[in-house]
Amino acid sequence: MAWAVSPEADHPVAALLGALCGAALWFVFDISRAARALRWMRFDPPQGQPLQRGVWGELLERVQRSLRTRDREIIDCEKRLNDFLSALQASPNGVVLLDPQGRIEWCNQTAASHFGLDLKRDLQQTIGNLVRDPGFVSYLASRDFDQELLMPGRDNRPGRPIRLSVQLYPYGGGRLLLLSRDVTAVEQAEAMRRDFVANVSHEIRTPLTVLSGFVETLQTLELSAEERDHYLSLMAQQSARMQSLVNDLLILSRLEGSPPPGVEVWSSVPLLMRQLLQDGQALTQVMNGTEHPLHEVHADCQFAGQISGIAQELHSAMGNLVSNAIRYTPPGGRIDISFRPSQDGQAVFKVADSGPGIAPEHLPRLTERFYRVDRSRSRETGGTGLGLAIVKHVAQRHGATLTIESQLGKGSRFRITFPASRLRPAD
Ligand code: ADP
Repeated sequence: MAWAVSPEADHPVAALLGALCGAALWFVFDISRAARALRWMRFDPPQGQPLQRGVWGELLERVQRSLRTRDREIIDCEKRLNDFLSALQASPNGVVLLDPQGRIEWCNQTAASHFGLDLKRDLQQTIGNLVRDPGFVSYLASRDFDQELLMPGRDNRPGRPIRLSVQLYPYGGGRLLLLSRDVTAVEQAEAMRRDFVANVSHEIRTPLTVLSGFVETLQTLELSAEERDHYLSLMAQQSARMQSLVNDLLILSRLEGSPPPGVEVWSSVPLLMRQLLQDGQALTQVMNGTEHPLHEVHADCQFAGQISGIAQELHSAMGNLVSNAIRYTPPGGRIDISFRPSQDGQAVFKVADSGPGIAPEHLPRLTERFYRVDRSRSRETGGTGLGLAIVKHVAQRHGATLTIESQLGKGSRFRITFPASRLRPAD
């Protein structure tokens, strides 16, 4: 049987076939473009967009644009995170970030040296395994972080204590922020303050007890005029002792609270030396109770110029050294006071005595407040234990240094070396 297709029917079928073929071709073409697009997207990051036109071209263009925006955001975030970590790194306090299991996620250099951690090796290690101080271990286990913990630092040694203040702060999703602070200096200052208050109280209580004892004696006992005078003179001695202690304390607190002396006020060095010699000679006469001195006191001034600073402070510091030399040197001894320029433009004020000398173990502590080698001699001669602390303070304020050289049985030499900036030669 032959197919007979009428010309009327031929046109729509051909058209349909043509349309189908076209659609199939378009489909294949589109699939291949989609495959190219997919291939391109599989690269991370995608490079060189393969399709420029059509829907796929636009789609890829948009994908590429949003990828670029994402990349920029990631770079921004990373930069911000790095800035943030650099700020934490620069912190003077130790910072450790711990995950909910107590493993180290990040820590700064300060924390590493506080706890002896290695910045790379110890990441992801449990902090409780690395910091084995018992106080820290139980603090960590207690989960009660309201209070700070005081614990020894990693390099803590008997002669060189290191104290840390440590506190944990819970944050996001069970994590912990561990902050550590070196409080060694604060604790030492606090201990010094406590010692100072205890020393001052003790120094004042002793003469006060003696004074009130005498007052009671005077009130309760029938005394002869001679005995009365004797007690009154002892009472005067005790009150003078308290007065000089309070005076020295006031001098120290004034030195600590006032700004360093400027260089605009100049005093004559020869005049200062003459005053010091006269004061020294007067003191050794007073100690003898007659006008004959107990010691030979000599002065040698080889600098005819001027010194800048607070004249009263300089006189009191140098006078303290002279009075110490006289007070601690036995009768018949010799005291030499000198002021000499040195080759480098500096000048040295020196007090040398022929006294008993000081054992080497005491030398580093002599300028501590209330430190005395010979306690009874200091008290007998009206010492407060604050003299050398004042001298050191005055020297420092004037940019000068105090050095002490002494040997048992060979006398002592106290030197204050003044910088060239504080000296002006005579015209
Ligand atoms: P003080 O008021 O007791 O003299 P200082 O601070 O002036 O206090 O001196 C501290 C200690 O140093 C004194 O108690 C004394 O033991 C010792 N010292 C000071 N100067 C001399 C010296 N020239 N010779 C021997 N010992 C001295």
